[in-house]
Amino acid sequence: MPRDPRYDVLFEPVRIGPVTARNRFYQVPHCTGFGHKMPRGLAAHRGLKAEGGWAVVCTEEVEIHPSGEVGPHSEGRIWDDRDIPALARMTEAVHAHGGLAGIELVHNGPSCCNRDSREIPLSPRHEPTDSGYAPVQARAMDRSDIRDYRRWHRAAALRARQAGFDIVYVYAGHSLSLPMHFLQRRRNDRSDEYGGSLENRARLLRELIEETKEAVGDTCGVAVRIAVDEMIGPRGIESDGEGRAVIEMMAELPDLWDVNVSDWVNDSATSRFAEEGFQEAQVAFVKQVTSKPVVGVGRFTSPDAMVSQIRRGVLDMIGAARPSIADPFLPKKIEEGRLEDIRECIGCNICVSSDYDIVPLRCTQNPTAGEEWRKGWHPEVIAPKGSDDAVLVVGAGPAGLECARALGQRGYEVHLAEAGEELGGRVTLESRLPGLAAWARVRDYRVQQIAKLPNVHVYRDSRLSAEHVREFAMPRVVIATGARWRRDGVGRANLAPVPGLGGRNVFTPDDLMAEGFALDAEGPVIVFDDDHYYLGGVLAEKLRAEGHEVALVTPAHSASAWTDHTLELARIQRRLLGLGIEIVAKRNLAALHDGAAELACVYSDRRERRPCAALVTVTMRLPEEALYRELAGDPAGLAKAGIRSLRAVGDALAPGTIFAAVYNGHRAAREMDEAVDVDAVAFKRELPVYEEG
Ligand code: ADP
Ligand code: SF4
Repeated sequence: MPRDPRYDVLFEPVRIGPVTARNRFYQVPHCTGFGHKMPRGLAAHRGLKAEGGWAVVCTEEVEIHPSGEVGPHSEGRIWDDRDIPALARMTEAVHAHGGLAGIELVHNGPSCCNRDSREIPLSPRHEPTDSGYAPVQARAMDRSDIRDYRRWHRAAALRARQAGFDIVYVYAGHSLSLPMHFLQRRRNDRSDEYGGSLENRARLLRELIEETKEAVGDTCGVAVRIAVDEMIGPRGIESDGEGRAVIEMMAELPDLWDVNVSDWVNDSATSRFAEEGFQEAQVAFVKQVTSKPVVGVGRFTSPDAMVSQIRRGVLDMIGAARPSIADPFLPKKIEEGRLEDIRECIGCNICVSSDYDIVPLRCTQNPTAGEEWRKGWHPEVIAPKGSDDAVLVVGAGPAGLECARALGQRGYEVHLAEAGEELGGRVTLESRLPGLAAWARVRDYRVQQIAKLPNVHVYRDSRLSAEHVREFAMPRVVIATGARWRRDGVGRANLAPVPGLGGRNVFTPDDLMAEGFALDAEGPVIVFDDDHYYLGGVLAEKLRAEGHEVALVTPAHSASAWTDHTLELARIQRRLLGLGIEIVAKRNLAALHDGAAELACVYSDRRERRPCAALVTVTMRLPEEALYRELAGDPAGLAKAGIRSLRAVGDALAPGTIFAAVYNGHRAAREMDEAVDVDAVAFKRELPVYEEG
């Protein structure tokens, strides 16, 4: 289909200094977990974005010097000439598909500990580093340190050009880089020409822009990425205060402004806390004060929202990190009028967690993310079917849906049987919980794709028994029957059932999410969260909204402790506390009796009793594997029915995240009729080259 003329404006070229972007789609710098340790993986990941139509594709932050590195996290590095070949892999991959490659040069100042290099971190003043509670202090930079830093930045810019980059960044975003640290009044207490007035505090930023332009500006666009609002009120940079003033002071200096809010928690807010376009209020002024192109982000997945940003003069280019991960082909799909094929980011930040874990990028919506090089997975292309065998997939949660979709894409005849009337399994249920509506996109994308595949047949209201499966007599069977939450308290903290949990006042997330269920409790409700991801907190919110008095008890240090990996931890505590939910941290559930929960301090085992009219156990799940076990336990029955392969996927194999279920379902589809050698490593590796460095 030709593209809708409404979207033509998105495909206009944009000049960025001496280079021209072919359209307005701009992949802003974002972490991937690949960094300098996995350059091949990185190049393949970035190259695909260019193939998918992004006009500009940027790196993650690229450290310019050993005195500003965030090891063990794997960001880019451009410390000396030996880093050029690895970075050139990326620029070549991007250029091969007509994109411009951008590099975000960074010195992390006091935001890093230099764990790798052991250099002393640098800062506008003496201060502890921002890096958690690490016992590391940064030292105040004197004038010669500042001169050194400027020289390193200039050298990095020249190397970046040598590596083939078209756009070179001066980075003052996220409270992660020295030009921003110098801008911050609360941090910069210097009495020299780099401290005091805003003009002085902005001096370093100005010098870097000028020096980068002087070094590479004849051939490279020079971009500035800056947080125009730190979202901490008058203590920080504010968009109606110094954020605006800085941009006004340097309005025409760079070739492009890439503007956002900081810190990362605010910039990459999840869908639970922020809507598409959520940064508009802070960044909208920028275009009014500069004639240079302006890029901004806001988890844009809707072409109408993008056009509106351009037409209303908010942005010139649509910046995206997460939407480009969830769908590297988003621009192409808009261009080709295939809007229904867009795999919309759900705003869950599983991608961010990969950076925390220092592993290749994971994405809930796009199971091929991070596997582009090492497994050769392409987000849009998949091998044709390996046989004419028909496949029965049992269960239409994220794993079953993705498996059926990908098998259908490969050309298999697929029969997808779902016990319920609705498709989507857990995402359908969870998307009805407070703040999780966007998660239904995991289901919607797949259901929409399956509807376009005549070779995939969906049967609702079809709970299959082992007998049914054998009667179906499909040569291939995939079991995706999901999992159920435990009711007995067993999980991480309690390895044996917790005494007293056999009563009718104990509930699981499955109970709470069941159609028509309403908790009837005369008194306080305790949510015991030993799962530590989002669900305990979300269910506490739901119960509070229904009028219950709620306490969230957890053995961890905070509610939903793992959500520090998804940048949600602080927001979740704020929301729960704001709703009047008590967070009882560092307490395990020891027993439940006589209308009270017995809690044990995780350090001292000191006991306390809390009134508890109803208990919700969010601890762990067990696979719904009875069907799989029954079938697998009867090989003769399988053979008689002509079933040649049987595989459990997703939560039915091992309960995990929605990402894990989608990934596992996808993998099963890719591996259908492939020879899988379980003794071999299933992917390519970037092995170290043992050379004297
Ligand atoms: P996953 O995350 O692994 O996809 P879910 O729990 O989200 O798991 O989805 C599992 C789906 O399987 C649910 O929609 C459930 O109704 C369905 N299901 C479970 N048992 C059967 C069965 N015997 N026959 C058909 N569908 C089933
Ligand atoms: Fe979006 Fe979640 Fe994928 Fe990140 S992991 S790109 S937030 S869908």
